[in-house]
Amino acid sequence: MADVIQLLPDSIANQIAAGEVVQRPASVVKELLENSVDAGAKNINLIVTDGGKTLIQVIDDGTGMSETDARLCFERHATSKIHDASDLFNIRTMGFRGEALASIAAVAEVELRTRRVVDEVGTEVCILGSEVQRQQPIACPTGTQIAVKNLFYNVPARRKFLKSDSVELKHIISEFQRIALAFPEIAFSLSHNGNELYRLQPSGLKQRIVGLFGKSINQHLVDLSTKTSVVTIGGYVGKPEGAKKTAGEQFFFVNGRFMKNPFLHKAVMNAYNRLLPPDTYPAYFIYFDIDPQTIDVNIHPTKTEIKFEDERMIWQILHAVVRESLGKFAIVPPIDFESAPGFDIPYLPKNAPVTFPSIDVDPTYNPFDNEKPASSGFQAHRSNMESATGWEKLFDELPAEPNPIQTHIETFESMGMQGPAPENIVRFYQLKGRFILTNVKSGLMIIDQKRAHERILYEQYLAGMETSVNMGQRELYPQTIELSPADFELMMSNAQELSKLGMEISNPNHNTISINSMPVSSTVTDPARLVENLLAIMHENQALPFDDARHRIALSLAKASAIGYNKTLSQFEMQETVDKLFACREPNLTPDNKKIIVIIDVAEIEKRFR
Ligand code: ADP
Ligand code: MG
Repeated sequence: MADVIQLLPDSIANQIAAGEVVQRPASVVKELLENSVDAGAKNINLIVTDGGKTLIQVIDDGTGMSETDARLCFERHATSKIHDASDLFNIRTMGFRGEALASIAAVAEVELRTRRVVDEVGTEVCILGSEVQRQQPIACPTGTQIAVKNLFYNVPARRKFLKSDSVELKHIISEFQRIALAFPEIAFSLSHNGNELYRLQPSGLKQRIVGLFGKSINQHLVDLSTKTSVVTIGGYVGKPEGAKKTAGEQFFFVNGRFMKNPFLHKAVMNAYNRLLPPDTYPAYFIYFDIDPQTIDVNIHPTKTEIKFEDERMIWQILHAVVRESLGKFAIVPPIDFESAPGFDIPYLPKNAPVTFPSIDVDPTYNPFDNEKPASSGFQAHRSNMESATGWEKLFDELPAEPNPIQTHIETFESMGMQGPAPENIVRFYQLKGRFILTNVKSGLMIIDQKRAHERILYEQYLAGMETSVNMGQRELYPQTIELSPADFELMMSNAQELSKLGMEISNPNHNTISINSMPVSSTVTDPARLVENLLAIMHENQALPFDDARHRIALSLAKASAIGYNKTLSQFEMQETVDKLFACREPNLTPDNKKIIVIIDVAEIEKRFR
């Protein structure tokens, strides 16, 4: 029988390799920026069009390449950075595998122009799908300019799976940030579709961080440094009060290379133990300097995972140094949160005389009268409620008179300074700042307050979009908020939909938005907080079950502006919530299909008393 094994042609081998190295435009950005850094550039400019799908261009003032190298660099395993196997264990450059340019050239149209100082003319090489189309001498400045056009033009399956321009840009920005943070002494710029997003001067690390994440981060940075025989660690950690709901400002670098490392991330998070509000992430920029012989960067083609010889030891050192930095600035509180009681109800020692707090209560005070108009939206749809489906039926058998237990609850409520309930009967009881409990015909109804409110707002927003009712409340003094370029893009790309929901934003300045009006129904009245919530939701794509942009934005805003947990609700507010929930088209489930209501049957409760 004839032999069947053949060697793959280079172009196919390169395309296969490209699958590993080039996943999306951001991967190209990473490789090109790294090459410029390796070439000793002092100025690196990145120019991107359409989220990198149309064009990714990097211009540097590094060493440049000779005529021959300009052609050779596109060959697989062509590298100037490794000469023999022992070099592999002593890597100080970003690249070394010599496969990035070959991979990129296999799946795009590439134009390279390069010149060394010693050469009088430069070289231009144009490549299309691994095939050299043209090579010629050209006049150009020293350094290298490389343009990658129409990525994946010849791999439709991959091109089709690229995300929207704004999502791809987000990935590009994070690669850009990683490299810019690793090399603060190099000047970088980034522009997208002709807009300059960053222009970073050579600087110290702190200024670089500020250049990337905005001035507001400065006050939150605490420095960090330790030197041991195993590793040297330096950088900054963020104070807990600067922690954000979205992850994205957490960076590890090893010998100048960005690294993902969930194991060491835990060491940092652990050091913050109990200092952080729930579900928030502190910023950190942590740099490890370590003998290259004790790490392996070769385990992953994009080299973002790095293996340490002695990871546990490094964990300990890192944990200790973060803890020490937080302690140095008295950020670690003297009391131990864990010893605080976990009950919502005030604890009174046995037989102690009960003294009620002496606070003058104005009996005519109604918390809803003089609150900011924003909360009036909570009542806006009341008239709808009156025509609501007969959910009241659920309550057929309510006792007419307050019973002793209910009075007791009410006492606790008034101790909590809630003010008197609108009616004398306590129908609702709040559990753990999260659930509304109430008595219904068949048993005990439990409602998740946040989810209920998400459903209510979502339906309200959708209805508002259809009827184009004005749902905004003008801000007398519009607040301006400085955002990172990625967040700025995300907000502005949704500005039109948001304005239909009453949230009107404009962009008076570069990377700055101004909130001119707030949705009336939002329980979050601080514009900056609302924007932060919204960004966290959009980043996590929490509203993804909908393809339709309208639904997606309605749900995102509903989630961002709903009442949270741990918010004490008055009788009146609980009543409102339940009323409105049952006026909704689908009271049982949130728009993203989570349970809102649970009813525990009396029979079930009785069973428990057997
Ligand atoms: P690697 O970076 O792993 O060596 P690449 O495919 O990324 O592999 O690049 C191949 C070679 O091309 C590099 O080793 C370097 O010699 C040269 N090269 C690539 N980009 C540049 C640049 N911007 N300036 C100078 N030389 C470059
Ligand atoms: Mg490289």
